[in-house]
Amino acid sequence: MSKLVVIIQCDAVTKRCAGANCTWAFYKRTGMFADYPPDTQYMSMTCGGCCGAHVPEKLATLEHKLKRLEKTKEDVTVHLSTCMVSESKHRLPCPFLKYIAAQIKHKGFALRLGTRISELAQKKRDAGIYKPWASV
Ligand code: SF4
Ligand code: SF4
Repeated sequence: MSKLVVIIQCDAVTKRCAGANCTWAFYKRTGMFADYPPDTQYMSMTCGGCCGAHVPEKLATLEHKLKRLEKTKEDVTVHLSTCMVSESKHRLPCPFLKYIAAQIKHKGFALRLGTRISELAQKKRDAGIYKPWASV
């Protein structure tokens, strides 16, 4: 069965970002999507706003639809968008990152941090201008 990547994006950032770079990175299989097979599908959603407490509710509704999507939970990997896990031109990493990550793991979904990796942002991380990539 093909894999399903679920990208969760920062609700605050999506007020001004259409998420095109996340989508492009997925289709081009770059950044954190480099190792997915060609038939992998994806969908995106936002965290629902601070403090991320709606994430498990959203994942619960997704879980109910998985059968219709011909997927099982094991086919799904949740990615937290790069703007959630890393400093960017938009903002610092999400202050609720550990909380959100813990909820996703508690729901039993595989979790990966990041989506697109911008060359410029990576240079700034390497130079210590941006905070390092967060861990959970
Ligand atoms: S990682 Fe970039 S493209 Fe994706 S939601 Fe965040 S700011 Fe937008
Ligand atoms: S909880 Fe984090 S990811 Fe969600 S809107 Fe707030 S800062 Fe953004």
